[in-house]
Parts: sequence; C-alpha cells; structure tokens
Amino acid sequence: MVVSIKNYLKNIPGKGINRKVIAFAVDDYGNIRQNDWTSLQYMERHGFEIQNHFDRLDGLSTSDDLNALFDVLSKHRDHNAIPPVFTVFTNPQNLNFEKIVSDGYSSVEYEDFTESMNKYSQVDTADIFMNGIEAKYLYPEYHGRTHFHEGMFVSNLLKKDTQTFWCLDHQCYTGLTNHSNNHQSYLSTYSYNDKKEFESLKIHLNEGILAFERIFGRRPLHFTSPGQLTHEELHRYLFEQGVLYIDTTPIKRQFEGNNKYSLVISWLGKKNKNGPTAIVRNCIFEPMYGIDVGHTLNQIKIAFALNKPAIISTHRVNFCGRIDENNRKQGLKKLDVLISSILKKWPDVEFMPTTQMAALI
Ligand SMILES: [Zn+2]
Repeated sequence: MVVSIKNYLKNIPGKGINRKVIAFAVDDYGNIRQNDWTSLQYMERHGFEIQNHFDRLDGLSTSDDLNALFDVLSKHRDHNAIPPVFTVFTNPQNLNFEKIVSDGYSSVEYEDFTESMNKYSQVDTADIFMNGIEAKYLYPEYHGRTHFHEGMFVSNLLKKDTQTFWCLDHQCYTGLTNHSNNHQSYLSTYSYNDKKEFESLKIHLNEGILAFERIFGRRPLHFTSPGQLTHEELHRYLFEQGVLYIDTTPIKRQFEGNNKYSLVISWLGKKNKNGPTAIVRNCIFEPMYGIDVGHTLNQIKIAFALNKPAIISTHRVNFCGRIDENNRKQGLKKLDVLISSILKKWPDVEFMPTTQMAALI
C-alpha cells in the first residue's frame, strides 16, 4: 500500500502528455564487472567483498547476450511499427588491465569499452553492439566515463592492496569495493569527500564524453550517475557540455562537505535554471530481484493514468549471461512477457529513447 501511494506521488508533479510512451532506461552497458565463473568462485573462497547479484553476475556483454536481446526486441513492434528500444546508459571506458599490470601497477590506463568487448569475446562483439544501434534496438546515453571511483582505485594501488592486484590480474572490478562511507563509494564514480575534488571529477566527466563521442559519433544528451551521490554542480557542468537531461530521485539528500547536507526536490520534467532538466524514472523492472512483470505493469498503469510517460528502469545484469547463461535466459524470458503484456494492454503505446520522450515533457 505504501509503495503504491509512493508510485502515485512521484507521478503527480510536472507536465502531462496525452500519449502512452514507454522508454526503457538500462544502466551499466560497457562496464566490466565480474569476469567469469572461475574468478567468482575464487573470490568467494578468498574473502573478497561479493555483496550482491551485480558483483556475482554482471559482466561485459557477449555476442550471445546481445544477439539474444535483439531476438526478443525484434519480435515486437508498436502501432507505428517501431521496436522496443533500450536506452543503454553506457560507461565508454574501462581500465586497460594488461597495460596497468605491465607497468607494475603504478599507473591508471584506460581503453574504450568497444576494445574491451573485442578483447574479452571470441567474436567481434563491438560490431554487434553497433549493429544494434543501427537497427534501433539500442540508443546509447552516458553513465560516466567508468563505473568506479578513480581516486579510491589509485589509493588501493598506492597501498599495494593484494585484492586489487588480483582483480587487475584477472580482468575484473568486483571485489574492489572497500572503504566506502555515507557520501563516497567505490562504485559511485562522482562521489566526493570534499568539494575541492570537483575539478578533477569534471575532467573525468569530460574525458568520458570525449570517448563517448569518439565511439558513437555524437555527444550524449542524457546522463545517469554511476552509483548516484553526484552534486548538482557537476550536473551543471554536464549541461555546459551539452547534456540536457539528468536522472535524479524525487528527494535527494546532497552532501555539501563538512558533515552538511542539502535537500534537492525534483520531478519528471523539472526545468533547472542554467542546468539540465530532471528525469525521474517511475517504473522498475529488475527480474533478478523478483521485481518483474506484474509490478512493472502496475507502475505503468499508474503513470499512464496520470498522463505521464513510463520510464522503465532496469540494469544490464538482468540480461547478462557471461557468468551464468541461465541468468540471461530468465531475464529475457520475463522481458518478452513484459513487452507482450504492454502491447496487449495498451495497443496505442509508443516505444522511444529517453531523450525523445524527454522532449515531449
Ligand atoms: Zn550503474
């Protein structure tokens, strides 16, 4: 009951539209996280911090992952003959593990995620990803340069942390999750202890935008923060770089340094002066955590009843088979049922990328 009231409340403020729009917002594409089953087994036996399903089962997309996803998406069309499209919030770069290891763990080296994809797959997976964009099943947007905090990573290198070295030797990031606090965490790339860090975080954001542009041939328009905990000042910086839309939560407790916090209230479509428009995702589909078809359909129903588009928040881990193929099969099966049910319940629905949806509100 409480959840249901919350679902209504987050859909009330802001401009309505009289179209039934569905936008899938899917996080974490491009990011290397877990590597393979053998690494996972080793880490579980040797006391690494394996905290959740993401640490266990989330890894770089394989060609099988992408082809199986496209098989599901291509089965469906809206009444304008448009297939469902995943807006894939992408980390355009990863660590270049070999380079770091050959440099004796003394420097931070990056590579584009397309290079990582081809390195850690048997076939040219980056081409399959690009074909998915061409076929309009994928629409990339920005999830930060990487999905880990560079400063925290460097401090692990300086400490000669043995688990960090093991992860670098075995091409994965899982297990590096240490020394987090209330306002800074290893997975939150743009979290901070002090506002003085903003300048280096802006450089990191910009390097990621340049990599995004190099890979996709255009600059991103929509940003969702990796792991959240990002200050509005960094959002304004992104706006200056051409990012028009930023994902946020209705109520955000923002860290201001020196144990102080401010409260930022947002809603879907809130325009910020000299800053990006706020996007608040109003539906969740996370089959891995048992949040799937029934729950998501109910949230879509509420969004449509209040004349709002339905922004379905989900993560790559639900469709990832690199570590466990069965995980991908289960997630895609649920996705197929969800899309079929949407089209059956609302035949006049329209699928579109988040930026096309945002331009309507
Ligand atoms: Zn993420």
